[in-house]
Amino acid sequence: MTDLFISDEGLKKLEQSMNLSLDAKKIQEELVIGNNLFKENLGLYFSDKPEPSPEAIKKLSEFQKKLRVNSQEASEHQEPKVAIVGCSDSRVTPHIIFSRLALNDTFSVLNAGNILSPVALESLNVPASHNTTLILFLGHTNCGAMNACAKERTSLQKNQNMAIIIDTIGKSAPKEIKNADELAVYNVAMDLYNFVNSNNDGIKKALESGITKVAGAIYDMKTFSVSFLDYITVANLLNKVRE
Ligand SMILES: [Zn+2]
Repeated sequence: MTDLFISDEGLKKLEQSMNLSLDAKKIQEELVIGNNLFKENLGLYFSDKPEPSPEAIKKLSEFQKKLRVNSQEASEHQEPKVAIVGCSDSRVTPHIIFSRLALNDTFSVLNAGNILSPVALESLNVPASHNTTLILFLGHTNCGAMNACAKERTSLQKNQNMAIIIDTIGKSAPKEIKNADELAVYNVAMDLYNFVNSNNDGIKKALESGITKVAGAIYDMKTFSVSFLDYITVANLLNKVRE
């Protein structure tokens, strides 16, 4: 599970899946808008930030209103437009940092270190079988799991409390990646690669149809900004595994 074998064919699949359709681009743009609205309204979430202006609150509520769906339909089936695989860190709650508070809109899979474990992968079969447009793998700066992994890489001390998490992130990561924030980017690249090359039939079908696309991003804890990763950055990191 933790060894990563990068192949040309695997990278090609990733490139195709990261090549966003118009619908997926629209969702990505919405995520950027939602993140900007979050930044304009930080006072709603932090005690030391200024109260947001009435205009900023209005823009936020209009954005959230557009995402609302019919409750009757939602009670019968789910139809998330976006799925987010993120870290369970309490400071990175996807619905908040992307201002997507509507229900039946965002499918989330959260665990420490946003790891594509077998359970996380099977969970993603749900949005894939519901034609979810975009599946986003979201890492973040100052991640506890990445810090633990980076620490273990630079010392001989083993952290038994997070052994599986550290092993999953660290086993395949190129030796030169020692810094936790760099590991976070590598970890997203690994998630993306493993996801698009999984053997899960539902996921394979969704990706082959071109309806479901994937993206990777990093949330910066200090600036509150989400930066999307392009395919070249991801492929360069994955190619280092082969060196
Ligand atoms: Zn984290």
